[in-house]
This record gives sequence, C-alpha cells and structure tokens, in this order.
Amino acid sequence: MGGYTHLLLAVDFTDETGQVAERAKQLAKAFDSALSFIHVVEFLHMDLANELVLPQDVELEEQMVASARRKLQDLAQRLGMPDAPCWVELGATKQEILRVAAEQGIDLIVVGSHGRHGIQRLLGSTANAVLHGAPCDVLAVRIAEDEGS
Ligand code: AMP
Repeated sequence: MGGYTHLLLAVDFTDETGQVAERAKQLAKAFDSALSFIHVVEFLHMDLANELVLPQDVELEEQMVASARRKLQDLAQRLGMPDAPCWVELGATKQEILRVAAEQGIDLIVVGSHGRHGIQRLLGSTANAVLHGAPCDVLAVRIAEDEGS
C-alpha cells in the first residue's frame, strides 16, 4: 500500500488547531504529499424551508467567510506553506468537508479528536460525523487534555 498523496486539514480555529495542524504538516512531509486546508462557516439562517433570509445575515456570513479566509491563509503561512490551497466554505461542516474531499481527490482527512463541541475525552461530533461519511481515510489527532485548559 502506498502513502497518501493529498491531505485535507479541517480547521476550526480553536486552541487545539495548532496541535492538529503540526501533525498534519509532519504527515504531509513524511508522505511527501500535498496539504490543503478547509474551514466551514456554518449557516446562520435556515433558508432550506424558504424562511426569510435577512440581508444583515448574508452580510455577516460574507464577513465571516472573508475573515476565515484570512485566518486560514495566516495559518498556512505560519506553517511555512503559504501556497497551500485554502478552502472556506459556507454550509454544514460535515457535508462541506466531505464534498471538498471528494472533489479534490483527498485520500486523508485530518481532524482534531475534539474542538468546540468536545466533551471531555469523547470524539468530537464533527470528527465522528466526518469519519462515518468519508470517502477516504480519516485521522483524528488526539488533543492533549492538559493543554489550554
Ligand atoms: P468538534 O466536533 O467541534 O469537537 O471538532 C472536531 C474537529 O472537527 C476539529 O478539531 C476540526 O478538525 C473539525 N472541525 C470542527 N468544526 C469545523 C469547522 N467549522 N470547519 C472545519 N473543521 C471543523
């Protein structure tokens, strides 16, 4: 079995992001593979049922996407990978990570074992959801419990 050719790092900008990103970088180096970054901005509004979408919601989402794009590019820069592709998507986290993974021919998705929704040592809900629907391998990077808390 060969190594991986293209890793996708899912970034949520919590305190754990640095640990997870360092591990993804090490792996990309070890496999000599490409590394892309993704952050998903979750929808604020429910437009699925043709609910009223307020212009200020749309504006806020656009600002969040723009700010996430800057933060993702900063992260790539800090990791010494300024040219790494950065995906900022608007939607549901699991679906968007899986969609981009499929479209970009990703063969390893890297997530933190927990982030915002982490409850003690349980696998985070995003990590769990991605694992179950993924078209490829998924690595859940163990977050050191004693850091940042
Ligand atoms: P959680 O389910 O919030 O505990 O998060 C677990 C992991 O899922 C995080 O460490 C990230 O790798 C990933 N993740 C969570 N939320 C997002 C998001 N909005 N965009 C991209 N990745 C995310």
